[in-house]
Amino acid sequence: MAKVKVLIEGHMARNENGRYSIGSTVTLVLTREHRILVDTGSFPDEVPLIRGLAGHALTPDDIDVVILTHLDLDHIVNTHLFRRAKVFCKFRGGEYPGQVHFPADGTLERSQMLGMGLIDEDIEIIPTPGHAEDMISVAVRSPAGRVVVAGDAFPDKSWTNFDRQPDPLIVDVAGFNESRKRILRIADYIVPGHGGMFPVTSRDTAGIE
Ligand SMILES: [Zn+2]
Repeated sequence: MAKVKVLIEGHMARNENGRYSIGSTVTLVLTREHRILVDTGSFPDEVPLIRGLAGHALTPDDIDVVILTHLDLDHIVNTHLFRRAKVFCKFRGGEYPGQVHFPADGTLERSQMLGMGLIDEDIEIIPTPGHAEDMISVAVRSPAGRVVVAGDAFPDKSWTNFDRQPDPLIVDVAGFNESRKRILRIADYIVPGHGGMFPVTSRDTAGIE
């Protein structure tokens, strides 16, 4: 069983100049063997992220695995802090298995990352394309049930509403909707890409066939 701690709740706001302030949720997953970070946030998140780790008596060097849900900039900027970690990303859609990067020596190799137990016995990596073609989600077995750290496959709680019209940033709307349903079917809790963790209720899944 793993513990899931949201270090930074992803944010998205438009300021008075019309510019967006945006950064992803950053999630710490503690298993028996690994200290895993899912996504690393954006430019303003570096100091809060280091503070958040310190709150769990950790430094960036203690993180041994980083999983990037996809490669949009607001989810990956602080990856450079984690020199000792293996960094996993899907990188391409379809059958491409994924990549693992080794920041310590600047190398990478192709690596199967999808499936149960490939990174840790309590972790399953599932493809959830739609927002982006390389989008993956991390399903974690925790004492509270299955927590799905979804990145922008589930941007925030408002996307439990299927009447909401997907915005033009979404690459494949049908795929995005299918991935949302898949996550709702399997999750007890969802950690969205830009918001706090929330429980999945029977109301959320009522319309999911
Ligand atoms: Zn995002």
